Amino acid sequence: MASAESSHWNLWAETLNREALDALHMRRLKLVLEYAYARSAFYKEYWQRVGFHPDSIQNLEDFKTRVPLTDKSDFLQFQEDFPPYGKTLAVGEFDVAHHAETSGSTGIPLRIPFTDYDTERYGESWVYGWWALGIRPTDSFYFAFNWGNYAGFWSAYWGVRRLGAKVYSGGGQTTEDHVRNILRLKPTVLLSTPSFALRILEAAQNLGIDLSTSSIQYTYHAGEPGPCSLSSVRRKLDAGFGAISGELLGIAEVDAVAPGCRIRQGVHMSEMSNFSWSMGADGQEVAEGTIGENVVTTYANSAQPLINYRTHDLVRAFNLPVCGCGCTWRYLDGVVLGRSDYMITVKGTNVYPSAVENLISDVSGVSPHFQLILSRRGAFDDLLIRFEPDLQVPRDKWEGVGAEVIRRIKEVVGVRLGAEVAEPGSLPRTELKAKRIVDLRGDEFRRELDRQQGGQP
Ligand SMILES: [Zn+2]
Repeated sequence: MASAESSHWNLWAETLNREALDALHMRRLKLVLEYAYARSAFYKEYWQRVGFHPDSIQNLEDFKTRVPLTDKSDFLQFQEDFPPYGKTLAVGEFDVAHHAETSGSTGIPLRIPFTDYDTERYGESWVYGWWALGIRPTDSFYFAFNWGNYAGFWSAYWGVRRLGAKVYSGGGQTTEDHVRNILRLKPTVLLSTPSFALRILEAAQNLGIDLSTSSIQYTYHAGEPGPCSLSSVRRKLDAGFGAISGELLGIAEVDAVAPGCRIRQGVHMSEMSNFSWSMGADGQEVAEGTIGENVVTTYANSAQPLINYRTHDLVRAFNLPVCGCGCTWRYLDGVVLGRSDYMITVKGTNVYPSAVENLISDVSGVSPHFQLILSRRGAFDDLLIRFEPDLQVPRDKWEGVGAEVIRRIKEVVGVRLGAEVAEPGSLPRTELKAKRIVDLRGDEFRRELDRQQGGQP
């Protein structure tokens, strides 16, 4: 354990240079490959089928280009065919100490087995982020969520045990009861999803209680884009609780993969528990600072190894310590920028509309009401941004907000898109984020098809 004055939970590991980190990864990756080949029928059968053998990996380049990719759908299929864990298990069934599941956004939940050792490793990943923010063993955590079968917050509990701090379990109670519990128990850290923390603030306000003067000094969040992803969320949480908010990026079946950064503009991958790289749409590694899909191999799951695992999360990663917090671990600027499932090509550049959506949300002066209009110009897709400015932005500043939207997208995505200001209240209101993307390409295709076939335009 680190001394309370240390800026990092593991100063040695978190400040290693890239060469040393890569050498460590190489040793660990070789072990993970050999382990999975020897112990998991899933990997052995898969790799033999595609003609891959762990012995062929000599360096990280080999690893990224030769080790077959895995995907959640592979695991779901195997678990369905050979329940409960398919042939993916690399330990005996009695070695599984904790069974968790994903929230099942695709319908069928993925079963996630953990050994006792895995739970310690997984839990420790959280601690790096807490420690960097200033949380210490003398702190006490209030867990405001229903425990359920989800790996996310169980792993946070393992993390608090590892840190040596205290847990107050809020469990399934009304939001108002959470507010009263915070006043009564006086915890110093609130742990919840970002949206639930905002609901707690609302409930407190309705009760006439100001939580900015409560015992809470830190709030920590996962499960949705939080304070390191969106500056608006960060400001609301910091002000509402009079505290410092932090965010962790977790992937239930993998690990608490990226436990925050004290600068709070992004998160660092936990390089003691994971190796990761960014993949482009062509399956090749993309350059540093370019948006790509995060592909992860974990050292924290010995029960069900995940190797070259596609997360479908779009990230903009840097292997150099660009954030300025002192940690040398791979940095994901803006955390997750979108999902890799949907991509278009604008002016020869691959553009993920979900990433653009995320970037716009974070530009100051843009209201939550905006649209991405997807159309086709000749052979190419085109993307136009139409947004309503925030009500407090004066009319003569609207153009400046539009320019900032264009600049930010050019900086991160690498392409100059058009941006149009819409009158406040003029864009359709919708609860669903997905509705922000207006795809006009289908209509144009249909009209073109109709014209070619002599039908009505
Ligand atoms: Zn940092």
